Amino acid sequence: MQITLLGVGSSAGTPVVGCNCATCQSSNSRNKRSRCSSLITLPTGENILIDTGPDLRNQALRENIKRVDAVLYTHTHADHLHGIDDLRAFCQIQRSQIPLFANQDAVTHIQNKFGYTLREPCDFWDLPVLRAEVIHQPFQLFNIPITPIPVMHGKIHIFGYRIGNLAYLTDVSEIPESSFDLLQGLDILLLDCLRETSHPTHINMEQSLSYISRIKAKQSYMIHMTHDLEYETLSAKLPAHVFAGYDGLKLTFS
Ligand SMILES: [Zn+2]
Ligand SMILES: [Zn+2]
Ligand SMILES: [Zn+2]
Repeated sequence: MQITLLGVGSSAGTPVVGCNCATCQSSNSRNKRSRCSSLITLPTGENILIDTGPDLRNQALRENIKRVDAVLYTHTHADHLHGIDDLRAFCQIQRSQIPLFANQDAVTHIQNKFGYTLREPCDFWDLPVLRAEVIHQPFQLFNIPITPIPVMHGKIHIFGYRIGNLAYLTDVSEIPESSFDLLQGLDILLLDCLRETSHPTHINMEQSLSYISRIKAKQSYMIHMTHDLEYETLSAKLPAHVFAGYDGLKLTFS
């Protein structure tokens, strides 16, 4: 399987509109971070999106994404959801309904705020044609095991996901003890690393490194970073087998 990091930015993206800091002014493409989302490509060709951020259209054009077969939602903050309308491009190409998987709170939110996207297939494809399903526990998608990983994001309960030997945990303030069993034997861990200073709803760099050393994946990549973290400066500080993610990075896993 392959993961493509579509975006590794925080809610504002980097560069931040109107900001003159060194990261935002940097010409290094690895300091250009669109909003956080990833794409899993299966050996059988299906594409599974994790979240639909507001940069989905540009990410799909950049990575030449031709189909989306399912979406796993972590939660419904705007930076993870508001590109949902861009899924209609794939409904049009595929002439099929796309299933969305999320926890109950996220499905309820999508029904309330984006109810117009939840449509049965018919002859009209100018709107998204989506179906939202509540998930609670591990399930199979295109014969691949998908495990929701409960994590805390401030006061809300959200999902990370384990897909095979990869785990994707964005927007984390705390990983509950009961979730560590689900994170054993990982090849790749993608983990929230907002910035150096602390934040009420996200782990900072120190907390992220502490979880990384406890989880002990073969390789760990930091995602959901603000402009406080300049790519080269951050990379120079990281221990072996820990890396700063960047938009467009592709990794393979089993
Ligand atoms: Zn976020
Ligand atoms: Zn900046
Ligand atoms: Zn969030």
